[in-house]
Amino acid sequence: MQLDGYDIDVIVQGYPGKSVCHGGLGWSTIVLLRGHGRVALVDVGGFNIRVSLAERLKHRGLKPSDVTDLLLTHAHHDHCLNWPLFSHARIVLGKQEMEWAATVPWGIGPVPELYVEKLQGWKTLHAAADGEEVMPGITAHIAPGHTPGHLLYRLKGSRHDVIFTGDAAKNRAEMLSGRADGTYDQAVSQASIASIWTLWRERPGNVLIPGHDIPMVLKDGRPEYLAKREAAIKAWFGDDLDQMTTIELTVR
Ligand SMILES: [Zn+2]
Repeated sequence: MQLDGYDIDVIVQGYPGKSVCHGGLGWSTIVLLRGHGRVALVDVGGFNIRVSLAERLKHRGLKPSDVTDLLLTHAHHDHCLNWPLFSHARIVLGKQEMEWAATVPWGIGPVPELYVEKLQGWKTLHAAADGEEVMPGITAHIAPGHTPGHLLYRLKGSRHDVIFTGDAAKNRAEMLSGRADGTYDQAVSQASIASIWTLWRERPGNVLIPGHDIPMVLKDGRPEYLAKREAAIKAWFGDDLDQMTTIELTVR
């Protein structure tokens, strides 16, 4: 997608699911933004995607050292953990999110304690304020509920906007129901989802990119996906390493 000098490339699709027996899946969205002299990533994923992320950048002719900015939505491991791959880059995280994440007791929930502790004192950290323009044409907005200082990012284009919601609205079901799964306060999350609806409806063609789903646009008031979902796992159920069963995780 091209918009106002930016190339917007979803290099990792978010997935709107949970595992049944093995805790959170953490398959989150990573978007590459190129333009205005910058190479930015909106969120950077967790360990599961680390190798693939470098490969996908390489496929686009980029090295991690080419990335100039990270726009992190929040301090959960599946969104922020890979910041050390880009430790030279300017790392944007909400000021309130940084302060909150640093106080979460060790061993509680999805905040990666040691990564957050190191990030708090990191020289390229930029703790952003609500409403701040963090890159040309891109503003950060506080959207709490999933975490207290969660940010969404809004690219205000001449034709339409692109809204990166992170986990303030993780998927289509949260947008349509107006309710959130995985929130410290359901009412706070619902208010954030309502404010995302306001941004989304503001102009026809506005694109929503959630933290655990694929990009969507409104058609006659209903979300319509802009990409084909791709998700599957392979398992060794047989007697040989070459023999694998592929399990598709999409609905046809
Ligand atoms: Zn999260």
